[in-house]
Amino acid sequence: MENCIFCKIANKEIPCSIAYEDDVIMAFHDLQPQAPVHVLIIPKEHIASLDEVSFDHVEAMGWLMAKVTDIAAQLGLENGYRLVCNCGEDGMQTVKHLHFHLLGKRKMLWPPG
Ligand code: AMP
Ligand code: ZN
Repeated sequence: MENCIFCKIANKEIPCSIAYEDDVIMAFHDLQPQAPVHVLIIPKEHIASLDEVSFDHVEAMGWLMAKVTDIAAQLGLENGYRLVCNCGEDGMQTVKHLHFHLLGKRKMLWPPG
């Protein structure tokens, strides 16, 4: 998708600090980390938000979810972590390419703001 910053990251047109990558997904460190570990996990395919996920995406989404545990382990999150997906305006999603925030290495708060 043209003018999508995370498509550009997935296509290596914009540099990032990669934590994990395969043919389907990429995990890279957030530019403005909200925890000692803060990576974004994206499908390489452009999907605008969680609200746009359809049954065409089942394989990629299943793959992404199944990889979370490996990525968390690689980042040393053996004590737990939080996976967050901001969706749409009320969810305060700012980048319109589906991404999951993987946050760890600190105690999280609940409820979120
Ligand atoms: P959200 O508010 O859920 O859409 O989250 C977007 C996230 O993308 C924010 O945490 C930003 O800090 C992060 N972000 C934006 N641009 C980049 C970039 N070029 N590299 C890494 N993280 C980014
Ligand atoms: Zn995109």
